[in-house]
Amino acid sequence: MNPSTLPNNKQIIIERQNFQRLLDVLKNQGYQLRGPTVREGAIVYDEINLVKDLPEGWTDVQDKASYRLQKRDDKALFGYVVGPHSWKKFLHPPVLKLWEAKRCEDGFEIKEKVAFTPQYAFIGVRSCELHAIAIQDKVFIEGPYVDTTYKNRREKIFVVAINCGEAGETCFCTSMNTGPQVSFGFDLALTEVIQPDRHYFVVMIGSAKGHDVIKEIPHTKASNQEISIAQSKVEQAREEMGRTMDTSDIKNLLYRNHDHTQWDKVAERCLSCGNCTMVCPTCFCTTVEDVTDLTGEETTRVRKWDSCFTMDFSYLHGGSVRTSVKSRYRQWMTHKLATWIDQFDTSGCVGCGRCISWCPVGIDITEEVAIIQEDKAKEKNDENA
Ligand code: SF4
Ligand code: SF4
Repeated sequence: MNPSTLPNNKQIIIERQNFQRLLDVLKNQGYQLRGPTVREGAIVYDEINLVKDLPEGWTDVQDKASYRLQKRDDKALFGYVVGPHSWKKFLHPPVLKLWEAKRCEDGFEIKEKVAFTPQYAFIGVRSCELHAIAIQDKVFIEGPYVDTTYKNRREKIFVVAINCGEAGETCFCTSMNTGPQVSFGFDLALTEVIQPDRHYFVVMIGSAKGHDVIKEIPHTKASNQEISIAQSKVEQAREEMGRTMDTSDIKNLLYRNHDHTQWDKVAERCLSCGNCTMVCPTCFCTTVEDVTDLTGEETTRVRKWDSCFTMDFSYLHGGSVRTSVKSRYRQWMTHKLATWIDQFDTSGCVGCGRCISWCPVGIDITEEVAIIQEDKAKEKNDENA
């Protein structure tokens, strides 16, 4: 097909050998590429430039407190689920300099902040991650207070999404209605198909920007058979989902169970380390620190990711409000699954499973909910007896 006549609403095929061209076109359009790559035994999101930077032939095996990379028996570029990083580190940076001040004769003067907004192309965004970005949009852009750093970065991104062809042991996106099929928020959405004699991507175009990129890449129109093969990959992921969560009435369930004995039990195991909040793609809390140089001449104010698991996080005049681990775990889970709904009209959990894999003691949010749900079932049985 002549690239310039590409119809906007059709699915197309890009062969694996032309995938580098996609990266090159995006780079030529001024994007900094960020995507999956292998580092220190994990698949992390970082700068990429070449197909060889991608985790070709690797997969991840995950469970409670467990994450391992393993070689695949094919050369899939996106044959893993999700690692410890999420795209929030690019849109909502872990450390952000807010301003600098320098001592002067009359006191101090604020140095002019040089605004720089990187233009990222995200390569390999999962459906649950697009939902997580949409949740952070509600927090940072759609509320009464707009975070300009987030907004400026967000407006410039180009999203190459990837439909999941496999689900992880810790995934439960189907329970949260966030996957595994990409449904919005992308410029291009890919499904990777590997056959004994062929490796290709079925591509759906989601925007005019996506259309302009595809025009530069060799492609063919997808046949009905190729589209149906891609669809069956996503169905396979849906059926393989490692975990589930019953979200019916979850908000009221958690509100009713503020004093449930399970909070004490989870507190016996929880280290209050905050890992779950760091890896979560929707957690957004920050703190602010002033860092002064040793001479006392210059100071910098930085914003850093914070966690509701620290004592300082709930420090008000006179001390912390949530002094026990129990109160901090309950705050985190109740915020994710209940108060978030009141606050932002959405759950704060997309079912990515990161907090399960990266909790050092294997606390599993789906199990914690299920235990409280079990008591609800007992309550009902008692009422009917
Ligand atoms: S639930 Fe796990 S990851 Fe989260 S603070 Fe407790 S020990 Fe750390
Ligand atoms: S709470 Fe856990 S499963 Fe839910 S979005 Fe955050 S990290 Fe993922």
